Amino acid sequence: MQALTNRIKPVSRKPMSIWERMYLPAIFKGMTITFSHMFKKVPTIRYPEKTRPFSPVFRGLQILNRDEEGRENCTACGLCAVACPAEAITMEAAERKPGEEHLYREEKYAAKYEINMLRCIFCGLCEEACPKDAVYLSETFAPANYQRKGFIYGKENLLIPHPKEDPEGFAKARGSRAAHPEGHGNEH
Ligand code: SF4
Ligand code: SF4
Repeated sequence: MQALTNRIKPVSRKPMSIWERMYLPAIFKGMTITFSHMFKKVPTIRYPEKTRPFSPVFRGLQILNRDEEGRENCTACGLCAVACPAEAITMEAAERKPGEEHLYREEKYAAKYEINMLRCIFCGLCEEACPKDAVYLSETFAPANYQRKGFIYGKENLLIPHPKEDPEGFAKARGSRAAHPEGHGNEH
């Protein structure tokens, strides 16, 4: 048969030796390798019962931040949405009314704030862009979901627990950032 290229390599088909034809030595060799692995240190862990520590630069689920008084930091300026390369963030701004000073730190706030986790690439640019330390990427995963709408995270999913009503939840959500309550020092 004529070859199309000159890359053909003839396969060596040596006749099998008596040991090879018995198969048992090969099976025994394979089982030895299998059993030897039973006594080696297992490199895997039993997730989710056990977890490995995250890298210090891990970027997980976004959190909408509050100040020490529990007021929402976000002023709905839209800079995070503009910075987001995946166009994952949408929001609606509202004016703070008299008597709502304990709820919102600034005169404007985000009445609606949504992040589409199916779009988010966890780049952290929203956190970098925010001048109010209002959004940051936490040390938790966005959990799996069976439905697309389950990945649209609204304020009810993103807002950090109130520091006075749920100090434990607040500290947990802050994670290692608790040591730096002013975030990355990018607040103006
Ligand atoms: S982490 Fe990146 S992709 Fe995700 S919302 Fe923020 S800016 Fe957009
Ligand atoms: S999270 Fe920060 S950047 Fe985004 S709208 Fe709120 S204040 Fe502006």
